[in-house]
Amino acid sequence: MTASSDQPPLRPTAQPGLRIGHGYDLHRLEPTHPQGQGRPFVLGTVRIDHDRGPVAHSDGDALLHAVTDALLGAIAQPDIGQLFPDTDPRHDAQDSRVFLEEALSRVHAAGYRPTNLDTTVICERPKLGPHKDTIRQALAGLLGMPPDRVNIKGKTHEKVDAVGEGRAIEAHAVVLLEHTGAD
Ligand code: MG
Repeated sequence: MTASSDQPPLRPTAQPGLRIGHGYDLHRLEPTHPQGQGRPFVLGTVRIDHDRGPVAHSDGDALLHAVTDALLGAIAQPDIGQLFPDTDPRHDAQDSRVFLEEALSRVHAAGYRPTNLDTTVICERPKLGPHKDTIRQALAGLLGMPPDRVNIKGKTHEKVDAVGEGRAIEAHAVVLLEHTGAD
């Protein structure tokens, strides 16, 4: 086995051609207003009719939050919670597109652009199948990519734990960035 100190150092000025980022988010789901604390159910910017919605300071779009953190992670920048703290009243019910657009502008400023995105959303209800293509089109538009470079996978949690009992939603995102040579 080779000790890490024996490895050649990374060249500090070398701009790698590809960067990869991962993002994860979870939101509790509660009955929607006015009966409960849940906001209207929104996923990947798409409003979906459901009797429960995310408890969140922003609009609670778990998928957009995961994608935002994947973009920020790929360029090793502060995460969504650091950039947009939930104590900031400006982000009360904030449309999460604002967060994604900020992350994307940071990606561009760093000399990169997204080349493909793969995501997994885990929730018991609502069923995502009828909405996946709409979400895919929306995310592709936001990221400036053709839809065939964006993937949305839906899974249940087999009725166990909070996600499986319909009390939470989870989202994972993996994004690949390519260097544009613009910096
Ligand atoms: Mg979130």
